[in-house]
Amino acid sequence: MSAVRPIAPGAVRWIVRTLEEAGYETWAVGGAVRDALMGRTSVDWDLATKATPLQVRKIFSRTVPVGIDHGTVGVLARDGVMYELTTFRRDVQTDGRHALVEFAECIEDDLSRRDFTINAIAWHPLRDEFYDPFGGEEDLSAGRLRTVGDADQRFEEDYLRILRALRFAGRFDLQIEDVTWSSLVVSAHRLKTLSPERIRDELMKVLSIDPSPSRALSLYREAGVIEVLYPEIGALRERLWDDVISVVNLLPVGRPKLRLAALLRPVAESDAARLLVRLRLSNADMDAVARIASATEMPSADSDPRVLRRWLSRHGRVVMRGLSRIEIASSRTGHGSKDPRMVVDSWSMLRAELRTSPPLKVDDLAIDGGDLKRMGLKPGPVFGEILNELLEHVLEEPQRNQKTILAHEVKEILGRRSVKLDVDADNL
Ligand code: ATP
Ligand code: MG
Repeated sequence: MSAVRPIAPGAVRWIVRTLEEAGYETWAVGGAVRDALMGRTSVDWDLATKATPLQVRKIFSRTVPVGIDHGTVGVLARDGVMYELTTFRRDVQTDGRHALVEFAECIEDDLSRRDFTINAIAWHPLRDEFYDPFGGEEDLSAGRLRTVGDADQRFEEDYLRILRALRFAGRFDLQIEDVTWSSLVVSAHRLKTLSPERIRDELMKVLSIDPSPSRALSLYREAGVIEVLYPEIGALRERLWDDVISVVNLLPVGRPKLRLAALLRPVAESDAARLLVRLRLSNADMDAVARIASATEMPSADSDPRVLRRWLSRHGRVVMRGLSRIEIASSRTGHGSKDPRMVVDSWSMLRAELRTSPPLKVDDLAIDGGDLKRMGLKPGPVFGEILNELLEHVLEEPQRNQKTILAHEVKEILGRRSVKLDVDADNL
């Protein structure tokens, strides 16, 4: 068969040998076999076996019940890695969202329930033998993505496969075969019936793993998936879309939130917020993405230090780091208004300003709520107003961040508001 042969880690061979000596046929399946055929090494080895989860747990001493319902048991091998063993399965009933599975007798049944031919190749790690009943290897060498069996039926069973098709085609630069393509385009509107978490995980995989997400994202757009799931991005005009996906390509793998923030920068803040809520990210992640997505551009290097401090005060160090990567990526596409040198210069100026440790937040002020109370003020919203006003002054002139100076400013502010103090500010 193939010129490229997979090489299984010793632990995989040990697991397969142990199971087969006990009488249970076992194969390597899925992503690792596919990746090996493309000359890529994979750390995720999935094994399919005739043994039931109970039998697997009897045979190996260190196991983890990762998904007993799905027939999956993790075996902790001597190399410290956990390998997933899934009992041969076949679907008995599906409704587009979930599948009811039962254990199957043979590897052929197990392979026929898998989504695409390239993901339905089994390889035997001891015999170095392939079992590829659906022609996955031929599709792979032809650069073609195709469903196992009838495309309409396979997408109807599980609409997530639409997104998986676009993700694999994008990541491995495969052409989606015509019947598979028209079927997924027709079914795209059904994606809304999937759980938001599964939809989100798919997008995050594209953004996290794919070295060039622009291909998968463009397929999302061409197939009408963007329109169904992410209309906020779908509304971008073609030029802007092309620019933004080239920026995403230039951001590193393993930084899905940064890439998502880049994708959302041309989108109106309220639309981006709506999309993020729909993605069900954690509050912290949502906040991190939204802050970078909506931040104003970094000020140019020749800006007045006051402008730099105000920008830093508003956005903070973390946003500065993320945004500088996006702006550099954007300048490298050649479509932005800045060249990479300009972005690096603004970033250096902001960093230099940060190194002077200027007060940037209310918490950095030399005066706090306790001081205001000691001055005889009753706590309330007015505290926040006063402290914010002081911060404005201090951003203008950081050397004014001293207790006595600020206490006098408080008096002035209150005087303007006609509030009289019980205690003299000088007594603080
Ligand atoms: P990745 O490198 O992204 O992990 P993978 O092929 O390993 O790719 P997984 O999601 O880890 O993908 O799934 C492992 C295998 O399980 C797939 O190769 C495929 O055979 C099968 N599979 C996973 N999800 C589905 C699905 N929704 N429908 C059918 N088969 C699936
Ligand atoms: Mg995998």
